Amino acid sequence: MPAPAPVAPVKPAVPYLPFTRPTIDDATVAGVADVLRSGWITSGPNVKELEAKLSVYCGGRPVRVFNSGTCTMEIALRIAGVGPGHEVITTPLSWVATSNVVLEVGARPVFVDIDPVTRNIDLDRVEAAIGPATRAIIPVDLAGLPVDRDRLHAIAKKHNLRVVEDAAQSFGSTWNGKKIGACGDFVSFSFHPNKNITTIEGGALVVNDEREAKLAEQYRLQGVVRSGFDGMEVELVGGKFNLTDVAARVGLGQLPRIGEFNEQRRELARAYFELLDAPTAKALGLGLPPRDFTSTNWHMFQVVLPEERLALKRAEVMAQLHAAGIGTGVHYPAIHLFALYRRLGWKDGDFPQAEKVCRNILTLPLFPAMTRADVVRVVDELTAVLSAALKA
Ligand SMILES: *Cc1c(COP(=O)(O)O)cnc(C)c1O
Repeated sequence: MPAPAPVAPVKPAVPYLPFTRPTIDDATVAGVADVLRSGWITSGPNVKELEAKLSVYCGGRPVRVFNSGTCTMEIALRIAGVGPGHEVITTPLSWVATSNVVLEVGARPVFVDIDPVTRNIDLDRVEAAIGPATRAIIPVDLAGLPVDRDRLHAIAKKHNLRVVEDAAQSFGSTWNGKKIGACGDFVSFSFHPNKNITTIEGGALVVNDEREAKLAEQYRLQGVVRSGFDGMEVELVGGKFNLTDVAARVGLGQLPRIGEFNEQRRELARAYFELLDAPTAKALGLGLPPRDFTSTNWHMFQVVLPEERLALKRAEVMAQLHAAGIGTGVHYPAIHLFALYRRLGWKDGDFPQAEKVCRNILTLPLFPAMTRADVVRVVDELTAVLSAALKA
């Protein structure tokens, strides 16, 4: 019998580094188990407690929680009376939820191109997009970097528009030292697992007063208003958007850690800049995010690949990094170029700044449990992949 083939030496296992991963501590896991055993697992005391704590976090403004960040924006538009015949200004560089909610209420999104430096909506171009049908603006704080709130709200006030801040990515960010959510008009947060704190799925809406809070509750659950022991009335069409107590308990374990999580993200972002500023990495010509260490929560660290200089497509860069054990993401493809939006009339070339960034943007790993050594590994691998792909 032939001798068995020698077994190839096993490569030392390097754990796969995803682009993000939530940090859930043991106390939260135990707390969730308690809720599951308690006999009350859907919306109840934990939802109330999370809303109260989020309200304190947002400077005392009323906050209601929901089962997604998407529905909070849809509900904000409904409370604002936005519907058929109306237009809502937003950015083409976001998760598609941002403009889908506009279509969902029967209104039309009006996209405004981005500022390629901040990658957020270009406020210089917003006023030109306002017309008689415009009712609201939905700005997005991409990667947690806040849109200029002073200019934004000045424009909204001048033109009598409502603002629904899509702050899905900017929980814990600040503007002029004030927390996002503590001022402004409607502010929407998402607690999807990729966000800076999570409730597994979930979201929160900051509103202006108790009247809006009551409407938010109605839109959240079939339009129902209860009174006394047996009173129940339905005045409007609501959906089914309530958060469970199990999910709220996860959020209660996450909320006290937001400062620590964001501090760790900031340190990792600093490490990225330091390593990407080194000569070999710098020679790649990557587009880096703004070096903001005061207002952003560093929800993501995104680079823009130098497409003119690369012989590789972004997907190939991602595949090679994946093979090296590094996860990356694309946040996001340009919204107006999806088939649904093309059918509504948008086309290539409509928003050149956004299109170029969207073709080349790449999200690198960044989450609180990462270490500086992980950042070193990402930058080394990225540099190796891109250096080999540079055109002569
Ligand atoms: C995550 C996200 C949303 C939607 O949040 P969900 O909780 O997934 O519904 C909306 N806008 C932006 C910019 C997001 O990143």
